Amino acid sequence: MKLLHNLIELPAGKTLADVLPVFKDIENEVHVVTPQPVCAGCRKPFTAVRKRRKAFRLYPFGICRSWPVAFAHSLCGRCWSLYQAGGVRKEALLASIDAFDDGQEVMQ
Ligand SMILES: [Zn+2]
Repeated sequence: MKLLHNLIELPAGKTLADVLPVFKDIENEVHVVTPQPVCAGCRKPFTAVRKRRKAFRLYPFGICRSWPVAFAHSLCGRCWSLYQAGGVRKEALLASIDAFDDGQEVMQ
C-alpha cells in the first residue's frame, strides 16, 4: 500500500532514544509556542464541546540528528477515534496531520 503521508511511526518495542539518540538524556521539556487553536486532523477549532483529546508529536528526523526538537499537534476526539480505528481511516488521519504540519489547508 502506498502511503499518503511521510510520517514514520516509532517501531513497536523501541523508545524514542533508540531511534533518535539525541533524546537519550533529555529529562525536561520547554514549550516555546502556544498550542494551535484548531485540530490537526480536521482543522476545526477547539471549543468547550470539541476539546483537545490527544496530542501527536512529530520529530523532524533531519533536525533531530543534532537537536532534540518536537512539534506537538492536538487532535479532537473524533480524529483520535479515526486514529484508533486503524486501517485507511488512520492512514487518512496521518496524511491530514502531515499536511497540517507542512502548513497545508484541510484536505476535503
Ligand atoms: Zn479533529
